[in-house]
Amino acid sequence: MASNGSEASAPRQPTETEVVNPATGLVVARVPAAGPAETDAAIDRAARAQPGWAGLAPADRARLLRRFAAEVDAHSEELAELEVRNSGHPIGNARWEAGNVRDVLDYYAGAPERLTGRQIPVAGGLDVTFHEPLGVVGVIVPWNFPMPIAGWGFAPALAAGNTVVLKPAELTPLTAIRLGELARQAGLPDGVLTVVPGPGAVVGQRFVDHPAVRKICFTGSTEVGKRIMAGCADQVKRVTLELGGKSANIVFADADLERAATTAPSAVFDNAGQDCCARSRILVERSVHDRFLALLEPAVRAVRVEDPALESAEMGPLISAGQRDRVAGYVTGAEVACTGRAPEGPGFWYAPTVLLADSPADRHWREEIFGPVVSVLPFDDEADAIRLANDTAYGLSGSIWTRDVGRAIRVSRAVEAGNLSVNSHSSVRYSTPFGGMKQSGLGRELGPDALHAFTDVKNVFIATDG
Ligand code: NAD
Repeated sequence: MASNGSEASAPRQPTETEVVNPATGLVVARVPAAGPAETDAAIDRAARAQPGWAGLAPADRARLLRRFAAEVDAHSEELAELEVRNSGHPIGNARWEAGNVRDVLDYYAGAPERLTGRQIPVAGGLDVTFHEPLGVVGVIVPWNFPMPIAGWGFAPALAAGNTVVLKPAELTPLTAIRLGELARQAGLPDGVLTVVPGPGAVVGQRFVDHPAVRKICFTGSTEVGKRIMAGCADQVKRVTLELGGKSANIVFADADLERAATTAPSAVFDNAGQDCCARSRILVERSVHDRFLALLEPAVRAVRVEDPALESAEMGPLISAGQRDRVAGYVTGAEVACTGRAPEGPGFWYAPTVLLADSPADRHWREEIFGPVVSVLPFDDEADAIRLANDTAYGLSGSIWTRDVGRAIRVSRAVEAGNLSVNSHSSVRYSTPFGGMKQSGLGRELGPDALHAFTDVKNVFIATDG
């Protein structure tokens, strides 16, 4: 790049980010942080690589994605261990996360040969539609699930013929960097998937501003997501947003109370509650409220919060000291029903905590805490449960516990959330759509339709009349 006189006084970007193991508080790596020039160079390379990638025979693009999946599979233990060190995820969870990247790649590797358009009957010719790739897609990833969320963006984007620039969160870049290397090792051409670590306000913002980036696939906070959406409006840039949540776990009196109570901790404390789908509001029918709490308490105490490298670990630390302070701020002054245990000493540990809400106006009931804290509130009847569940700006996931099939269906239709489960807490399967209603997001990831969010439909009419 040409230099000019004003460069000396321009604010300097940090050139390195320290990566910390949240279980120990110790620095485990230093990662170069891209500035605007490096980001632009990565976007330019991706733009140059895109026509060649889209022009590959569909079977060849599919084969490269399958090879990428095989590389991820062959390195899944290494990726999992890296995630334990960088994010503090229990090793069992981290293995699932690496396996999820492999599975999502395999699933979308089937797409290049199946991304069919339509033939529409018209007079005087032939009318066909094509699903054209957009160009360069910018994927922006948060720190809570660095591997799966990266894969949910890049796998369908690449399958549809786009090239990808991917920005991991500042706190958790290590597995994304390794996935970028594995893509190259699998034979994906230079520029097809480029990982660009660096600050959101620099690298992420450049993805939003740069005209060669035609779509932003963002996962993160609702606050940043709104700014990104506003920024994209300027170029009518496509955007998918997966944002925050404050999901309800609704327990009716006729439910299998024991199962509802013993599974409730994993539905909110998984990943130390740093999960957009965390069922962090438990609504319990008043007649069984006390019984439910009595069953919940031993289940909370039994959660194994320990060194995430141990096979037995069920919950690790929070991601940072700042996050731990934020979480603690919600508990101060609130009524604590019970807590679990957490290690003392170094690392950003916080014990699972159950709070009793006085009313739906309580701050801990309303705001996304993103930590191992769950609030419990009684309700009176079905209508009251639905009203309380929907009394939030969010709408990502939720669970409904009842043995009454009619009620399960009625409540599932009435709760405003993109992903619900009945008598279970499952949210995410790579073969089914995932995403939020209301301020939890825009668009859907995963499943058969996600590909279309990475393409534009083109209609072509071919005259047959002489
Ligand atoms: P965040 O919004 O602070 O950051 C997310 C990403 O955006 C990071 O990579 C960050 O560097 C980048 N970023 C920050 N400012 C930017 C800007 N101005 N322009 C472009 N990029 C920018 O979120 P976080 O704290 O990393 O993650 C936690 C949040 O993510 C929670 O609210 C959680 O609910 C949400 N989340 C949602 C889902 C979902 O699928 N709905 C999944 C996981 C996390």
